[in-house]
Amino acid sequence: MESPHTHLSPLVKRFFSLKTASEKRLLVLLVAIVCGWAYLQYYQHWSPSHVETTEHYRIESSESPENTQAAGKICERLYETYASTLAPAVNMQPIRRPMKMRLYSERDEFKRCNVLVRGYAEAVYRNKTCHQYYDTKADNPYHWMLHEATHQLNHEVAKLNLKLWLDEGLACYFSTNAIVDQKFQLGTPDYKTYPMWWLSFVNLTGDWQKDVATGKIIPLETLIQSGAPNPGEDVNNYYLHWWSWTHFLLQGEEGKYREPYLQLLTKGGSIGDFEETIGNISAIERQWYLHYQKQTQKARQHQLAAIQSAGKRE
Ligand SMILES: [Zn+2]
Repeated sequence: MESPHTHLSPLVKRFFSLKTASEKRLLVLLVAIVCGWAYLQYYQHWSPSHVETTEHYRIESSESPENTQAAGKICERLYETYASTLAPAVNMQPIRRPMKMRLYSERDEFKRCNVLVRGYAEAVYRNKTCHQYYDTKADNPYHWMLHEATHQLNHEVAKLNLKLWLDEGLACYFSTNAIVDQKFQLGTPDYKTYPMWWLSFVNLTGDWQKDVATGKIIPLETLIQSGAPNPGEDVNNYYLHWWSWTHFLLQGEEGKYREPYLQLLTKGGSIGDFEETIGNISAIERQWYLHYQKQTQKARQHQLAAIQSAGKRE
């Protein structure tokens, strides 16, 4: 007599031949994972409308050719600025082929193609490719891109193995400078970049203990030992701290910590590395606090001046 399963496909036959419920559950789970993965590939599918190649970058883009070309130029300026800043202590490795970038024309397009990255991410560096959109509505359309491009330089050119606070610190430092005539004004913030647009809202009391207790200040040891904040945590506060520590160590105290900071980059940035190359954490933390407070005051003055000049124009 013919078996009821004779005309079924091999996969279905295999399913009915499984003996236990747990084997069947496992197979259903595997099929669901494969289907989910296939749907994700279909959903994230993207193809560029053109490709721009510069000396160090290959940019696949769905943005206009003019804006893609402008993005390529500014990335080359970043490469030069980054290399000349770090070169005294850090060996820059020649790249075998141009570094990869994807430039999306809109934020929604970026989000669709990067559904698995953290919800608050506006750009991401993953699988040796920078993914970002060109922010045509912003005064500074490049800052998300420059942030990720700095992570790329940290990993692919300087070959640094950094703790998060230094990796993010460098990315924030290089992506938030004012740019005048294609030149980076190192140390001079552009308040229309992230996270600088939050700086004027930081209102420190001048009392270290009080500001630590209220969460306005994250002590350096905590910052060094922390991973990436989760959505819902005070993400902007972490980014401001990461930026301000690199800004302080490169620009503060009349450049006293610049050389030790570059050495710190080659070591990685643990608490031990900091004490060995820069000095005692609690002593230097107080200098940083004053520097950070001064930067927040400057940001407020800048904002006030911008409001007043907008008022005069009306
Ligand atoms: Zn980052």
